Amino acid sequence: MLQNIAPHRFDNTYSTRSITGEDYLLSFRGREVLLNSDDTIPQAKEFNHLPEYCYYLFRIDEKCYFCSLDSLYQEDMYYAALRPYFRKVDNTTEFILHTAFQLFEWYRDHCFCGRCGKPLFRSEKERALYCKECGNTIYPKISPAVIIALRNDDSILMSVYANREYKHYALLAGFVEIGETPEDTVIREVNEEVGLHVKNIQYYASQPWGIDSDLLLGYVCDVDGSTEITLEEDELASAEWVKREDIEEDLRQSSLTSTLMQAFRNHEI
Ligand SMILES: [Zn+2]
Repeated sequence: MLQNIAPHRFDNTYSTRSITGEDYLLSFRGREVLLNSDDTIPQAKEFNHLPEYCYYLFRIDEKCYFCSLDSLYQEDMYYAALRPYFRKVDNTTEFILHTAFQLFEWYRDHCFCGRCGKPLFRSEKERALYCKECGNTIYPKISPAVIIALRNDDSILMSVYANREYKHYALLAGFVEIGETPEDTVIREVNEEVGLHVKNIQYYASQPWGIDSDLLLGYVCDVDGSTEITLEEDELASAEWVKREDIEEDLRQSSLTSTLMQAFRNHEI
């Protein structure tokens, strides 16, 4: 999965250090990232002008990554859409961009206090923002969501989302609501999206998924009772039982969804 970047090491120890020329600087525009013309992530020394403030994000081995909330476009660089770019790069670069994008969005969307409306300030000691006026402290936003491998003997339930740019096969998924355990979410989502009941719910693996600020929790379960699908058409374009041998091989398996599908294909779950 994309977070498995060994032998590289992800170090997210918080720091308020300043950027230097050798550090990498990320600028996002919508769901696009600013790249050099040769498709690499630019270092600070490659910019004609640096913004007033750069946010330290994390370190991969000895390389430090920063982001800016400003547009840093210059003529020898271009903004590339993230999802197509992910398909061209290795796991480590995909992980860097997912994680940087999540932190960027959090900083961008939390300039002001949601309680009193005054400007927020960066903490000196931890990844947090705080309000000097009312004392409100805001930590990074991480949304837990479940990915569900629902089995029916030698088949697995696959779906295609309605109203999304991603049109490939997916597994059922949904956000954990306040008051729920992830297992509760599995039961509720399967019932809401395809009208089925489940049993034998087992945790499989997790994955940080920064482009949507998610923490994905993978579960495997079996259909309980009827296998007839009743589609929730606002959410899904289609859902069907797909046999193990009809699942396409995906050697990269950067996503938890793909990893679960391949595990089923290979009789591992
Ligand atoms: Zn406040």
